Amino acid sequence: MADVWVLLDHEEGALSKVSLQLLTAARSLAAQAGGSPVAVFCGTGWERAKEAVARYGATKALVSESKDFDRYQPAALVETLAAVVGERTPWGVLFASGPAGKEVAARIGALLGLGVLADAISVSVDDAGRPLVEHAAFGGAVIVRKTLRSAPYLICLKANAVAAEESPASLEEETVPALVSDDAKRVTVAERVSTAAAGRPPVDQAAVIVSGGRGLQDPANFALVEALADELGAGVGASRAAVDAGWYPHAAQVGQTGKTVSPQLYIAVGISGAIQHRAGMQTAKTIVAINKDPDSPIFALVDFGVVGDLFDVVPKLTEEIRRRKHAG
Ligand SMILES: Cc1cc2nc3c(=O)[nH]c(=O)nc-3n(C[C@H](O)[C@H](O)[C@H](O)COP(=O)(O)OP(=O)(O)OC[C@H]3O[C@@H](n4cnc5c(N)ncnc54)[C@H](O)[C@@H]3O)c2cc1C
Repeated sequence: MADVWVLLDHEEGALSKVSLQLLTAARSLAAQAGGSPVAVFCGTGWERAKEAVARYGATKALVSESKDFDRYQPAALVETLAAVVGERTPWGVLFASGPAGKEVAARIGALLGLGVLADAISVSVDDAGRPLVEHAAFGGAVIVRKTLRSAPYLICLKANAVAAEESPASLEEETVPALVSDDAKRVTVAERVSTAAAGRPPVDQAAVIVSGGRGLQDPANFALVEALADELGAGVGASRAAVDAGWYPHAAQVGQTGKTVSPQLYIAVGISGAIQHRAGMQTAKTIVAINKDPDSPIFALVDFGVVGDLFDVVPKLTEEIRRRKHAG
């Protein structure tokens, strides 16, 4: 079968943004492979999820509604999905390339003897009908192209590698039983604590990121970065120099020893563009830098560069975006 499956990432039926991006990617891959985009839903809250699943173009959903997926995570998911993938052999399965998606993909790969490609920043179908996957290596200095020889192809796609686009379809549903062996029940999730920062998207999920560096000079000046981010609905990132100085939490650090991000838009404010910072952000689709030093290495990377004092440029930029939003 040439269908392209997506393991939906969700919280009680509320789909994450990356799920919508995966559905968009699956549509394009299915068109190239000659199959259909299929959503796989495991957990609770399908009624809440299904309208968006159809809106983003899945023509079929395999639905396994059970609390066991929350209780025995991730073993229940691995066992259920491995069984259905092994039986129906789709063209491939797309997973969100976060810790959870990568773990599930790797365990299914081990169970079924399949290869897995993780951290993909793009995926297409080659002339032989196999996946052509790109990912960034050596701190982002090299883009590597890879394929898999063992089908079904298991591919973990990074958040924001694809922009989510709606394409409403009529959705057929099929119920799939949850499989949970006694082995899977040996580890039980005891408690869940949400650590998501209120309001702004986390840096590794945001489609737009505004990051601040040492050029901000004082932690209070991160308010300028936050105000710009809020106008754009963006996440806030930081350089290691800013994090090490205690100006911003480590969870926001972008770079070799922080998060690797691939947003649609990355705005670097008062960041020099050291190699270790670039390693975390140079696969962003569009890069903008605001820096007062015209020789700063960040300008070698940018699509748009503003040579100027951030304390002058950033408030004006924020104000102009606000004005244009309100104008229409
Ligand atoms: C092993 C290792 C791992 C590392 N991992 C990371 C990592 O994950 N992430 C990371 O970011 N770094 C990392 N680093 C640190 C990295 O080498 C740099 O030191 C760091 O990125 C510098 O941060 P910065 O650009 O904010 O500061 P700086 O290099 O000090 O740059 C500040 C910039 O602000 C500009 N500026 C100053 N004032 C203004 C103003 N008023 N208006 C406009 N521009 C202004 C300056 O021109 C300058 O370019 C790592 C280093 C090592 C050795």
